[in-house]
Amino acid sequence: MAVIQVHDKKFQPYIDEATLQQRIREMGAAISKDLAGEKPLFIAILNGSFMFAADIFKHISIEAEISFIKLVSYRGTKSTGNVLTSIGLDEELIGRTVVILEDIVDTGKTLSTFLPQLEHQQPKRLIIASLLHKPEATTHPLKIDYLGFSVPDKFLLGYGLDYDGLGRNLPAIYQLVE
Ligand code: 5GP
Repeated sequence: MAVIQVHDKKFQPYIDEATLQQRIREMGAAISKDLAGEKPLFIAILNGSFMFAADIFKHISIEAEISFIKLVSYRGTKSTGNVLTSIGLDEELIGRTVVILEDIVDTGKTLSTFLPQLEHQQPKRLIIASLLHKPEATTHPLKIDYLGFSVPDKFLLGYGLDYDGLGRNLPAIYQLVE
């Protein structure tokens, strides 16, 4: 794997495709073992998690459903500030085991704002599976139940993650060369 250029920036190889796929296979196996008999509903958060969601779901060997949502932030009133809402979730969550599929937890702000909204719908359990986590950047700590890789606080690209729209199609993960 070589250094690549996207827009004005250079990125170096960080996690190769085989390593990614091996870890995702392990995560899928662990989730399948732990949630056997629960018919979980997976919820993938778009756009970034589309590749991770597709790959891990192939390794879910128990009965399961998957749904895809987008989080949209809009300006609320002065008292509510910016409000985060989701589009695309048609399923009822009440009494269900729900597994959130996220590409990367950075500050943790997105998920810690969004999770209470899901909890409001009274799922039986809310489980988080994230491919990547930047512990040094996390200001809103949350419990990640299944984690692929802990990574340093550097900008990553590839495998669903973009830089200004490009790079999502790369099958491996690259790190910004500073
Ligand atoms: P958080 O709310 O945890 O700070 O942000 C999570 C979101 O920020 C991720 O879902 C992702 O879209 C974006 N993000 C965080 N770190 C990176 C990164 O290194 N590269 C890219 N492309 N997106 C990132």
